[in-house]
Amino acid sequence: MGNRESRLPILDEPIKEPLKVRNYIGGEWVESKGEIVDIVNPATCKVMGKVPISTKEEIEAAVKAAQEAFPDWRRTPPLARARCMFRLKELMEEQFEELSRIQTMEHGKTIDESRGETRRGIENVEVAAGVPSLMMGYNLEDIASGIDEYLIRQPLGVFGIIGPFNFPFMVPLWFIPYALATGNCIIVKPSSEDPISQVKIAEMAEEAGIPAGVYNLVNGGRTVVTGMLENREIKGICFVGSTPVGHGVIYKKCGETGKRVIAQCGAKNFLLVMPDADLPATIATCMTSFYGNAGQRCLAGANLLVVGEGLSESEHNAFYKKVVDAFVDTASKIRVGYGLDESVQMGPLRDKSKKDTVTKFIEKGAEEGAKLRLDGRKVKLVGDWPHACFLNPTVFEDATPDMNIGKEEIFGNMAAIMRAKNFDEAIEIIHGNPFGNAASIFTQNGKLAREFQYRVECGNIGINVGIVAPMAFFPFSGMKDSFFGILHGQGQEAIRFFTESKVVIQRWF
Ligand code: NAD
Repeated sequence: MGNRESRLPILDEPIKEPLKVRNYIGGEWVESKGEIVDIVNPATCKVMGKVPISTKEEIEAAVKAAQEAFPDWRRTPPLARARCMFRLKELMEEQFEELSRIQTMEHGKTIDESRGETRRGIENVEVAAGVPSLMMGYNLEDIASGIDEYLIRQPLGVFGIIGPFNFPFMVPLWFIPYALATGNCIIVKPSSEDPISQVKIAEMAEEAGIPAGVYNLVNGGRTVVTGMLENREIKGICFVGSTPVGHGVIYKKCGETGKRVIAQCGAKNFLLVMPDADLPATIATCMTSFYGNAGQRCLAGANLLVVGEGLSESEHNAFYKKVVDAFVDTASKIRVGYGLDESVQMGPLRDKSKKDTVTKFIEKGAEEGAKLRLDGRKVKLVGDWPHACFLNPTVFEDATPDMNIGKEEIFGNMAAIMRAKNFDEAIEIIHGNPFGNAASIFTQNGKLAREFQYRVECGNIGINVGIVAPMAFFPFSGMKDSFFGILHGQGQEAIRFFTESKVVIQRWF
């Protein structure tokens, strides 16, 4: 079982030698003919693996294998498919700690963040194991004399699943178990930045008895994605990543080729602090919201709005100062270092280019006139690690929603603190931003909290919580530029996405 008790010694790395990532196609582990690139541990800067950028022929081979496997897999009874999910879950539980450590090594997040990610990934497998009930249709007799009508749900065929770098283990699992449990075949393309977690899942899927060709793994980048989008045999695509790719490439092309699509995209999330909020609890929660996963989370806090509802100008100023001072003081104490060290609270950015992006935003914020209260460029680490990908937490105050740091997705460990005169202005500010992934309010006023959830155009709403990651049995929602499609990953909606409704009308002679 998930063994937090049997924790390994600090910094024990499960991957000792660089791992050669292969593709898994038609039940075979095959080497790619594509270019090979390094997978670098962002904390140690050591090469921990090599991943191929697979070719067009390789994605085509995977689609063919999946197509061939489909007729038998769809005829496999739902309970037998569910048993594969139970077995997959067991294997994940047995390797819980190793899976978590791999995420920390290939992504950079802290080991506790990785354990959280592993847990949520497994929860999706658990929910999908309920497929015999979840996939049931419904019927109604006597719609006319002696005639009954019923609805059945059927799998469609082959689906492509494209993952982002920030949750290398969990995000593809918002889709994988539901696609398989409903009788579809899949091709998973993880981010080439941190693909090892998905290699582990493919290995476990094989061991769990999922037949050859049902589950395929093809590593790479654009060529693989384009190959999926252009292949008419692929019935649908699940994509999680940035808005330009999700909207401009995936959603557009799926529309042209008539594929089903879920495209969960970028974010810029606002957190509101009302004057009646429980301040110590709010600040503590904000630290995880803004700096968890080094801010590389689509549900991360980006902008903190300190709202002066019901306050005079001077009272608002005093409240604002209190919030900012507490935020800066707490953020400055976050321990940054290699995530395998259990005492560390924040790891590095995924790679140097991501650090450079955040660094540029820090420069931009200062140029735009926001006040730099905590400068993450002054790197201070627990342990002696190369600084290449590390930044400590950054805090700007007196930011505004129209500044670049206030409106663009930064996807890093930076907070922009701003003011809103009152609740209505705060809602207006949120709605002025094109994204609609998540928003939270901290208040003890139930009426206002309800008003917030009622009015805010975001898919995930927090009330006195900062990160609103839906459980596996709820959909992972999103609105505006954060989501394109209709149904979402996880739970019932994923079951619906992966099945076609067929209606049958029968006359009984
Ligand atoms: P990304 O868009 O760069 O990459 C996502 C996937 O698309 C990767 O597998 C990548 O190889 C592929 N890809 C990249 N460019 C492509 C192109 N031009 N054509 C075809 N395929 C391409 O995103 P990322 O940097 O890996 O992930 C971070 C982004 O993901 C952030 O914007 C974040 O907000 C978003 N995200 C959203 C959610 C959500 O549920 N809304 C969850 C996690 C991450």
